[in-house]
Amino acid sequence: MKSNLVIYNTMSRKKETFEPLNAPFVGMYVCGPTVYGDAHLGHARPAITFDLVFRYLTYLGYKVRYVRNITDVGHLVNDADEGEDKIQKKARLDQLEPMEVVQFYTNRFHKNMEQLNTLSPSIEPHASGHIIEQQALVQRILDNGFAYESDGSIYFDVNAYNKKYSYGKLSGRKVEELFANTRQLDGQSEKRNPADFALWKKAAPEHIMHWPSPWSEGFPGWHLECSCMSQKYLGDTFDIHGGGLDLQFPHHECEIAQSTAAYGHEAVKYWMHNNMVTVNGQKMGKSLGNFITLDQLFNGGAEILEQPYSPMTVRFFILQAHYRSPLDFSNEALKASEKGYERLMAAVESLKKIKASATNTVNVQELSDKCFEALNDDLNTPILISHLFDGVRMINSIVAGTEKIDAENLEALTKLYNDLVFQVLGLLPLTQSGGSEHEALDKVIGMVAEIRATAKQNKDWATADKIRDELKAAGILLKDTKDGYEWTLES
Ligand code: ZN
Repeated sequence: MKSNLVIYNTMSRKKETFEPLNAPFVGMYVCGPTVYGDAHLGHARPAITFDLVFRYLTYLGYKVRYVRNITDVGHLVNDADEGEDKIQKKARLDQLEPMEVVQFYTNRFHKNMEQLNTLSPSIEPHASGHIIEQQALVQRILDNGFAYESDGSIYFDVNAYNKKYSYGKLSGRKVEELFANTRQLDGQSEKRNPADFALWKKAAPEHIMHWPSPWSEGFPGWHLECSCMSQKYLGDTFDIHGGGLDLQFPHHECEIAQSTAAYGHEAVKYWMHNNMVTVNGQKMGKSLGNFITLDQLFNGGAEILEQPYSPMTVRFFILQAHYRSPLDFSNEALKASEKGYERLMAAVESLKKIKASATNTVNVQELSDKCFEALNDDLNTPILISHLFDGVRMINSIVAGTEKIDAENLEALTKLYNDLVFQVLGLLPLTQSGGSEHEALDKVIGMVAEIRATAKQNKDWATADKIRDELKAAGILLKDTKDGYEWTLES
């Protein structure tokens, strides 16, 4: 298997030719969500970025095992190993069992991912389902001399590790600065050094998520699950590790240290990070009032939104930026994406109606080469999309009769658009964009209401009542008004 794909490796800080360790197999691990709230705009970007990687590698013929975890334990409110577990806090506030919180938000996350047309990962392991494996990893790091016990908790010894390996090489941070800059927080006194991080935490009496271990009744540190589950499902060396840029430090740096301390070598060949989403130029945050969940985005239910945006508009918007560039959300940008997506889809539709000529005046091969050149250059989707729009102009000229295309080129052009637009970029046709479901339902109800009105005119009360009752059984409330009817969905 040979491809010309080049990807930017965050570790080496340069573009590298993609050569999997064990072609045609590719192992890819991506850090997934901590499931204690609804998925928001910030979750859509890594999901779509690594869906694109998954789709394109599969398209090229690789057999990709894509592992994305669900964090359901160990992610504390404060990154410095202090504070309450995020899931537990939500469970306490809502008076739920922590696993009810996990199930509820995992289901909602999956629904949003399906709306965005991201493919399911091959394996989606939960941290809480891998406590035994995480304990074995802690023991291995202890045995190798890179961790220590302190009052029932186990901490990673950054100093000991840094004597043999290099801590901070992914993010480019220097250990001396980390030691100097990290504030000494309350309760951190059990660490030898403020830069050390928890592998296992002894549970406080009020902490309800805990498991027995050789060291204490407790719970794993947040970074541990990814070192553990990537190794379990992809082996102790694998091809791609992905995630958002915000995870580079401390999360990924800690993962690298753990895996290296346990196995004596680094686990990952290519590190890939997507850049962040800002909202009107500002970092997104609950306190800033610019926090947008995906549900709000799709139904227009947030103050900041001038209208709803269909999942495919959002997907197209994200793909219009290169994954390593920052992406700024604004109503103007989203509206422009909506228009662009519709224009692209209209051209794909009109391709079906084109009849081949005996002569040919267009260069499909050149267009195809440019498109793949863009994809192979570190998945440069904005350039790819601009070439696809050059193709839209070509299609429109053929439709207008100012250019001609022969049968062979028409077949190639149709295949190019089907492959790139649907398979690789993962867009859906306009009718499935997710924005028109309400419209379609409205049309169907209108039709049924008309049949009922006719029945009433003919004094066929049985049919009129039957229609109303059946709609009600389907959750649709039809009400007669003086101008006709109105309908609502039963909530
Ligand atoms: Zn992770």
